[in-house]
Amino acid sequence: MAAAWRVTAWGVRGAFPRMEAAFSRYGGNTSCFCLERGEDALIFDAGSGLAGLGEALAAGGRRRLLHLMISHFHLDHLMGLAAFRPLSLPETELHIYGEPGLQARLDRLFGPPYWPLTVGQQGARVLFHEVEPGQTFSPEPGLRASTLRGVHPGGSILYRLDGDGKSVVYGLDCEMAGDMAARLTAFARGADLLIWDGCAAPGMLRPGWGHATWEQGAAVGRAAGVGLVWVTHYARDYDDAFLRAQEERAAAETGGLCRFAREGTVIEL
Ligand SMILES: [Zn+2]
Ligand SMILES: [Zn+2]
Repeated sequence: MAAAWRVTAWGVRGAFPRMEAAFSRYGGNTSCFCLERGEDALIFDAGSGLAGLGEALAAGGRRRLLHLMISHFHLDHLMGLAAFRPLSLPETELHIYGEPGLQARLDRLFGPPYWPLTVGQQGARVLFHEVEPGQTFSPEPGLRASTLRGVHPGGSILYRLDGDGKSVVYGLDCEMAGDMAARLTAFARGADLLIWDGCAAPGMLRPGWGHATWEQGAAVGRAAGVGLVWVTHYARDYDDAFLRAQEERAAAETGGLCRFAREGTVIEL
């Protein structure tokens, strides 16, 4: 029987965490999503939401083999590695994927004098896998990962996972400039779930900043025949009231194609 897929939102914010009450309904942690496929855990990005995910994984005690796919090296996509409990557990085997130079960059950021220990020095077995955008790889038997170069300051990688007749695309930190919308439409074709960068509300997008709107996500989702566009990576100053209004507008204008991610919510495929 094909394994069930459960995708959980652990961090839905961009730039830097917001922990005040006015941000708590959608959530204040930065980017992190986890796909559970049977006993496998495949993680997208290591924002501050990774800390909560790490506690849940450690408490569950079952998942020893973890895969972490890094979209790019901006701090809001990495800061959770400072508090990821499975790194200190000798039974953990963590595979980290990202652009060439991955290990050297992480060791610089999480190593003396900026941090006491590197990610590979804390007890877990950590393996680094360099990925050129456009490459495919297989993190687990029966699972295929595809990648696409995004438009973002310093570059980004978008990921797609296919297996068990299901598919998820993680498409954050990518601006719809040049032929990006066409390339992404081809990349996301027929996906069940598109996790989308809704950093800017419509009309508030800043060209060159490397982000997108839920409206653009709906356009790509429609063109690609995607099942659901799950909007995330909210700008730091978008509080719950603002996001609620955006979500209602998006639901009405897209016929339910767009849903806004809240921390702790799960999509089952
Ligand atoms: Zn970024
Ligand atoms: Zn970002």
